[in-house]
Amino acid sequence: MTTKLKVGVLGATGMVGQRFVSLLAQHPWFDLVTVAASPSSAGKPYADAVAGRWTLPGGVPANVAKLTVVDASEVQRVAQSVDFVFCAVDLPKDVTAKLEEDYAKAETPVVSNNSAHRWTPDVPMFIPEINDAHVAVIDAQRRRLGTKRGFITVKPNCSIQSYVPAIHPLKHFGPTKLAVCTYQAISGAGKTFESWPEMVDNVIPFIKGEEEKSEQEPLKIWGQVSDGRVVTATGPAITAQCIRVPVSDGHLAAVFVAFEKKPSKEQILAAWKDAGGKPQQLSLPSAPKPFLTYFEDEARPQTKLDRDQGNGQGITIGRLRPDAVFDWRFVALSHNTVRGAAGGAVLTAELLKAEGFLTAK
Ligand code: NAP
Repeated sequence: MTTKLKVGVLGATGMVGQRFVSLLAQHPWFDLVTVAASPSSAGKPYADAVAGRWTLPGGVPANVAKLTVVDASEVQRVAQSVDFVFCAVDLPKDVTAKLEEDYAKAETPVVSNNSAHRWTPDVPMFIPEINDAHVAVIDAQRRRLGTKRGFITVKPNCSIQSYVPAIHPLKHFGPTKLAVCTYQAISGAGKTFESWPEMVDNVIPFIKGEEEKSEQEPLKIWGQVSDGRVVTATGPAITAQCIRVPVSDGHLAAVFVAFEKKPSKEQILAAWKDAGGKPQQLSLPSAPKPFLTYFEDEARPQTKLDRDQGNGQGITIGRLRPDAVFDWRFVALSHNTVRGAAGGAVLTAELLKAEGFLTAK
């Protein structure tokens, strides 16, 4: 039996951090040994630090409850205890970017949920089923940082994780234009109905920065590696509207797409049925099988019923039909704090371990 890699979570007490904790509590490859957060949580047992704000069913995992929370800014202390870290702190972008670089330079790889390094050209941004080939930029990043094993990878914004997986298997039909309207859960803002009562019986038609991310980040995912960097794709053209809706978890997207070579309905459904990538081929522990699930029932997918498909890592799709302005339209759903945040990062780390980029120190 291989030894588990020792892992830490930076920002372990927050909403995404709690997801990391619950996904890692029984992980077959990773052993959660260090939980880190702000100075106000440091020194407390983890259970006390999250008392009154633990949001997940089943309570705090027993093997994590007694861990003492460490200040995430104590880089050497955390780095000495782990093989790599996940990052889910909520700090200004420049502070997060520096913190992540400090960990990488302390020879401790960072798999980040944060946006700070999403546009650093030699930092890969993974949806593991789609662009595993972007691991090729890690060596160039290590040369830039002057590290032997330390590096940073990120995952994209939660909003794109339903429609990019659905469009990707159709890339050979040449998608030219994409219009997306997302209906996003309140946990995406780190909130619950208790902490954000204004969201009960309400819709807010604005999420700061979300439309820009929804339009631009897919182009890095679909970019090509050249000369140690990811060169962003130039298409398809994407326009997005992102709306906050009163659901706890799950981002639903209504999608309209035009193609150079319009596929038939049968071709689209066949491409979705066969969709998958390295995580499925390598049977990574968190890989959903299937990656994409299409519902013939025209009232599916529904956020509440379907967000947990594949333990929250699967993407569900429905209502594929012709469109009078674009070629086709459909809806797609993903779990924002699992696939869209902590779960996507855990799957990324599994890919990085399987490919030899994460190893024991
Ligand atoms: P959150 O619930 O507010 O949690 C923030 C975390 O950051 C807490 O653990 C907090 O520790 C820690 N923190 C705050 N100040 C710190 C400091 N000075 N040093 C070290 N740690 C500090 O936020 P969240 O919703 O989990 O989101 C975390 C990050 O992920 C954000 O950047 C967010 O934009 C991003 N994100 C969130 C989602 C989502 O679905 N929620 C999806 C994708 C990305 P204390 O508890 O000690 O204050």
